[in-house]
Amino acid sequence: MNAPDNAQKTQPALDVAHVRKQFPVLHQHVHDNKRLAYLDNAATTQKPEAVLNALDRYYRYDNSNVHRGVHALAARATQGYEQARARIARFANASEAGTVFTRGTTEAINLVAYSHVLPALQPGDEILLTEMEHHANIVPWQLIAERAGARIVVAPVHEDGRLDLDAWRVRLNARTRMAAFVHVSNTLGTVNPVAEMVAEARKQGVSTLIDGAQAVAHIPLQFEDLGADFYTFSAHKLYGPTGFGVLLAKPELLAAMPPWQGGGDMIDTVSFEGTTYADGPARFEAGTPHIAGAIGLAAAIDWLDAQGLRAAKAHEDALLAQALEAIDDVPGLQLFGTAPGKAAIIAFNLEGAHASDVSSLLDMQGVAVRVGHHCTMPLHARFGLSGTARASFAIYNDADDIAQFASALRKARDMLR
Ligand code: PLP
Repeated sequence: MNAPDNAQKTQPALDVAHVRKQFPVLHQHVHDNKRLAYLDNAATTQKPEAVLNALDRYYRYDNSNVHRGVHALAARATQGYEQARARIARFANASEAGTVFTRGTTEAINLVAYSHVLPALQPGDEILLTEMEHHANIVPWQLIAERAGARIVVAPVHEDGRLDLDAWRVRLNARTRMAAFVHVSNTLGTVNPVAEMVAEARKQGVSTLIDGAQAVAHIPLQFEDLGADFYTFSAHKLYGPTGFGVLLAKPELLAAMPPWQGGGDMIDTVSFEGTTYADGPARFEAGTPHIAGAIGLAAAIDWLDAQGLRAAKAHEDALLAQALEAIDDVPGLQLFGTAPGKAAIIAFNLEGAHASDVSSLLDMQGVAVRVGHHCTMPLHARFGLSGTARASFAIYNDADDIAQFASALRKARDMLR
């Protein structure tokens, strides 16, 4: 039975000081002894001791290859790898049979493009994207569209960074073979109404893929309830290791998909006359996988669950509100993405100043933000920009980070006049 709503509301608030203690990397000083305020979490998150220890333990005591040996270490590594699959599937409310391990969101989207969409793609077919997509959810579709003579169709965003849902609906039609959209924009922070979009696409028999890279550490994921065909995310944005990610898929779709990379571990039998392939996720996991990556992600999920995803989200929402208030009166501040209910991501510019100068001045004061197009060039072009600075918040950010950010931004403003 589901917990009653009020059980969620009474969840204890996050003890951010306790959380911060678990992240060794945060307790350092940079540039002439400046306290580090790490606000580049949409690019990648830091790792708690629990994850560092799980990785260390695996390499120190259990390191071996998976699915191939009968010795004690091979058995432990295989068990760790497959237990991680079960843990990750449970976290996402997905089936183990539909949980494929990849190098990250990017590889997961490529896998779907080449193995699910391309084989049936015809000239004149359409792939529906949105203007706020990360390049990872644009370029793979362009590559396969070029091969098949298909078209990329793009739904625009409103001035405040909301998706123009009506325009998106209009573009969904009998020629659409795939509707791929981001759950949370890595630049605008916009949270798309993904359940509604999946329902609309399904009504028209259109496949759906949700890029959940920026959502998974902040919004509880219910893959099976969502009804999407595919959902992708990366471990490193979820307090886990880099180079590891997940494709969630409906198992019946995986069963019908051809392999997209060949090699060891993805086969059933091999002969020079022909090869037959493994069933399930294994078919898409050719070669020695990132075993520690899977184990590290499972540890990250255990850790995040112990803190409480809802408590983390409430904390990040409060940080966003505080940060927006703290920088509100900085002269010439321009914000991009002001959609209601947005995630804790602030893309901004200072009028008359280059984003990279602003970011360098922030860095000199210990404030780490991202600068550039954040792999959303078409979105920046839509706003007539070549780049922005971006501050993004995570579970371990605190009021001191915000104060440092606001004061550093004021100083940058003074220096760039
Ligand atoms: N999609 C979004 C929304 C992202 O923010 C990112 C990473 O920044 C990606 C996809 C690509 O993720 P990865 O580089 O981990 O494959």
